[in-house]
Amino acid sequence: MKPLPPVRYRIQPRRPQAHRFEVACTVADPDPAGQRFALPAWIPGSYMIREFARHVVSVHAESRGAAVPLAKLDKHTWRAAPCRGPLTVSAEIYAWDLSVRGAHLDASHGFFNGTSVFLRVIGKEDRPCEVEILAPPGRRYARWRVATSLARAGARAYGFGTYAAQDYDELIDHPVEMGTFAHVAFSVQGVPHEVALTGRQRCDLARLARDLKRVCEQHVRLFGGPPPMERYVFLVTALGEGYGGLEHRASTALVCSRDDLPQPGVTAATDSYRTFLGLASHEYFHTWNVKRIKPQAFTPYALDRENYTATLWAFEGITSYYDDLALVRCGLLTPEQYLEVLGRAITQLLRTPGRRRQTLAESSWDAWIKYYRQDENAPNALVSYYGKGSLVALCADLLVRSRTGGRRSLDDVMRALWRRYGRRGAGVPEDGVERLAEEVTGVRLRSFFDRALRSTADLPLESLLAAVGVDVEVRAAESAGDRGGRPATTGAAARARRVTLGARTADVGGDLKLTHVFDDGPAQAAGLAAGDVLVALDGLRATPGTIEPLLGRLRPGDTVRVHAFRRDELLELAVRLAPPALDTCCLRFQKRPAAAALRLRRGWLEGR
Ligand code: ZN
Repeated sequence: MKPLPPVRYRIQPRRPQAHRFEVACTVADPDPAGQRFALPAWIPGSYMIREFARHVVSVHAESRGAAVPLAKLDKHTWRAAPCRGPLTVSAEIYAWDLSVRGAHLDASHGFFNGTSVFLRVIGKEDRPCEVEILAPPGRRYARWRVATSLARAGARAYGFGTYAAQDYDELIDHPVEMGTFAHVAFSVQGVPHEVALTGRQRCDLARLARDLKRVCEQHVRLFGGPPPMERYVFLVTALGEGYGGLEHRASTALVCSRDDLPQPGVTAATDSYRTFLGLASHEYFHTWNVKRIKPQAFTPYALDRENYTATLWAFEGITSYYDDLALVRCGLLTPEQYLEVLGRAITQLLRTPGRRRQTLAESSWDAWIKYYRQDENAPNALVSYYGKGSLVALCADLLVRSRTGGRRSLDDVMRALWRRYGRRGAGVPEDGVERLAEEVTGVRLRSFFDRALRSTADLPLESLLAAVGVDVEVRAAESAGDRGGRPATTGAAARARRVTLGARTADVGGDLKLTHVFDDGPAQAAGLAAGDVLVALDGLRATPGTIEPLLGRLRPGDTVRVHAFRRDELLELAVRLAPPALDTCCLRFQKRPAAAALRLRRGWLEGR
């Protein structure tokens, strides 16, 4: 049988200052009824309709030098008039989104996801794809190179030229960076791993490579090696401030703050560097969990609409659990630091009244319209399938370990998911994770999962952590910046906040603005709303700098006169202050745990 002709793409940042990529797509044998083309409405891994077609500035088609009429069928689909082919559709695409989800281009660098730039040739998605990546014209770009996990098909290493993908699904799963990035490489069980680092930064690349290698090896150990790709690339963009990551089958795009990266000559690991390693760890774990062990609802992805699943807790929550657990298992976090991280995750959940409104299954299903489109009411209305999902994974792990005397764990469930679904490329049914967990561990988990995923009841964290000799302590926040994870500072306990407004505030240009008003709290009861700007408490000027001392003088039950602006209208309200909620969690290793608890703890933290 003659192989089908590939779909040929060509992309060039023709005028970087105008932030436009020029992209052409050529089909040798277009649909005789009129070939249709479309851009995806979303990018896998980020569950929100983004309508990338809105960045198409112009589009036209031609065949053998003659223009072919193009009709637009809906917001992201075009149909070319019937022609014999070859048919080329060319588009100019605006690229000014400096996130891991879109495309960005200026004279300093270019970055794109295939979902932003490559038209899908409808009906020919299975065809092999070739893409020619061209440098911007002009000598000032002579030093630009290319970093991507796309397979080279003529291009030299890091060079412009031709790359290839097996099909459209693969083509859009290898983001591309071009510019003058820094570069470092390491190997994991013989598989080359690379870091391409963009942006103005001073990073200790050798240390970064050393630490990332440990993280990658840890995940490979968990699933059983070798790594499931031929090559892996971390595409990192360092900015003044930024945080985000998106997983792909053989790479990840990360955005971080340049201060998160390890600085030359510094050996200590800062909190923010550990956060960066946690992000890299998260995305690398996704190489298995969600890129290969996939929900049935994503096999294949429907790129023109929402893809509903109630199981994002398993793909994002379990991944969020293992991202930091891997750091402690490979020695990049101490067990005490890990407890601090867990304490903060529990604190975040306790500070989310929406955990009483939305179940984890609902959070997952509605990710498209809720988690990814949060507004001022979000804390009251929703719960995160990342945050709560990671704690469900923790509970499931500890439950299995304690019921089986440490012979089974969530690690076994992950390996089984990899064997049964991931390696074979079969989608995981909606109840697949729960059923396999029971099957592999022999532990009845149905009532646990019903409670954790399909009810808003609290998780049994205290009893399960006790099984590994960890005590849970819950207290009031000491200040607005208290994220939990640490015990109350002695002495400062007297300075601890004694009252709460029941609202979150932010410094917006020097104004003290309410960003969120919590359900059933004092601010809501008094009639304050998100967006209001507080200007005075009991006749004294309130600012971001004075609010804490002003509240510090008051006691629960006191009524305080509040002046605030809503839009340009002054309000005067009476707020009856409440005692602060016990919403700040700290975990501690028991001094003398039982031998059995100590054994379970070792298995948990050491991954045995
Ligand atoms: Zn994730």
